[in-house]
Amino acid sequence: MAIATVNPATGDTEKTFTAHDEAEVERRIAQAHAAHEELRATSFAQRAQWARATADVLEGDVDELARIVTVEMGKPIEQSRAEITKSANALRFYAEHAEGFLADEVLEDPSAVGASRAYARYRPLGLVLAVMPWNFPVWQVIRFAAPALMAGNTGVLKHASNVPQTALYLDELFERGGFPAGVFRTLLIGSKQVDAVIRDVRVKAVTLTGSEPAGQAVAATAGEEIKTTVLELGGSDPFIVMPSADLDAAVDTAVDARMMNNGQSCIAAKRFIIHADVYEQFAERFTEKVRQLRVGDPLDAQVDVGPLASQGGVDDLAELVDDAVATGASVLVGGPDAVADLPGEGVYYPPTVIADLPERARMTREETFGPVAALYKVADAREAVRVANATSFGLSSSVWTTDAQEQEYFVQEVQAGGVFVNGMTVSNPALPFGGIKRSGYGRELSAAGIREFCNLTTVWVA
Ligand code: NAP
Repeated sequence: MAIATVNPATGDTEKTFTAHDEAEVERRIAQAHAAHEELRATSFAQRAQWARATADVLEGDVDELARIVTVEMGKPIEQSRAEITKSANALRFYAEHAEGFLADEVLEDPSAVGASRAYARYRPLGLVLAVMPWNFPVWQVIRFAAPALMAGNTGVLKHASNVPQTALYLDELFERGGFPAGVFRTLLIGSKQVDAVIRDVRVKAVTLTGSEPAGQAVAATAGEEIKTTVLELGGSDPFIVMPSADLDAAVDTAVDARMMNNGQSCIAAKRFIIHADVYEQFAERFTEKVRQLRVGDPLDAQVDVGPLASQGGVDDLAELVDDAVATGASVLVGGPDAVADLPGEGVYYPPTVIADLPERARMTREETFGPVAALYKVADAREAVRVANATSFGLSSSVWTTDAQEQEYFVQEVQAGGVFVNGMTVSNPALPFGGIKRSGYGRELSAAGIREFCNLTTVWVA
């Protein structure tokens, strides 16, 4: 895949880049490795000051950077701005909390282990490789980098090939905030060059956010090298609505949860599992709201849904919808017949609602990475859980009910890394984020996220 900015709203190739050669990759890894020795010797207070200054730099650049993000991957411009603000806030969050999250864990009764003192200390691992996707090209990187740098780790980034300008912006960001040179370096490389970076003895761990095949490839090499990995992979999150739910709120949230980022979010609600008593009402109102979404140029602030990031993304999505229709599903809005109404240039897919999916349809099992929602009608909470769990993914979920027993039942039974009750799944620096099953393993954000790339050292003093 070429390293280039191709505007998905126009199809124009705006800028192409030459991949870093071996010597340049070596130079950058050496810098980031050396910077770790410097960074780990600094205090939390010093790193917090730099992290806050970096947040200020990021916010100061919001107009320019939001435009780059939107031009590179098609996110509606206001959402690009929100992503940048959220990223700045994550830096501030870790500036404030890192020291507390990584405080020594002291054993209250050391005599029980024959010691005068015993504690566990979190120490940074060193240089970490981050392999990142294009869909939240600033947030995904900051979500890794903010806790990593605050812990005293350093990073090299292999960003997705279609967001090189964002990747190069991030290359300079942390130094502009005052961090020592080299603590964070972008490697402009293709995916084939990743293997050698993982095997480099100076790289201690790898985090990957992306698809299952990429996760498998990276984890396989890291496994051979006995290196820690965190994998944040795909999702097909259920959104369950029971009769007691506030239906207006559920419908509004359902539209946002599915269509945000043009439907290309790992934690987007993708399967809407609705109790039979409210199914018809939900389907009607949801379909109407989806019909009203404005599709078009993502630089236009009035637009709700922009293009997908690439023609390949459109092709994959169209295939899933076509397969659903061929197996007998109904299209409530959008779908193949609406393609003709799309803007002439660019790689768009119409906002679509599918119902009556037979079990053999691929859409019941595979991730729909675009503005396509699937509706399922269920008889009760048990069936809702059965449908919700009938997927190889387990990233997050959203359940809508005001019945306390039902809430508890879903929290206990839905197989996912998160259960959001009467609300939309969102990532927040204060909450752990990550999946189970084929959505990956490990956690980002919160205390759990900063501890992933630390060496929890047992200290025992006679
Ligand atoms: P992708 O193709 O896996 O790309 C992600 C990153 O991995 C890119 O930097 C890509 O580089 C690299 N890559 C691809 N194949 C690789 C390989 N064999 N070895 C090493 N690196 C490799 O994923 P995508 O299509 O950009 O992103 C969409 C997927 O990411 C969806 O499944 C989505 O659900 C998931 N995602 C998950 C989360 C989460 O937090 N769980 C968040 C966002 C997205 P190139 O661009 O050069 O190919």
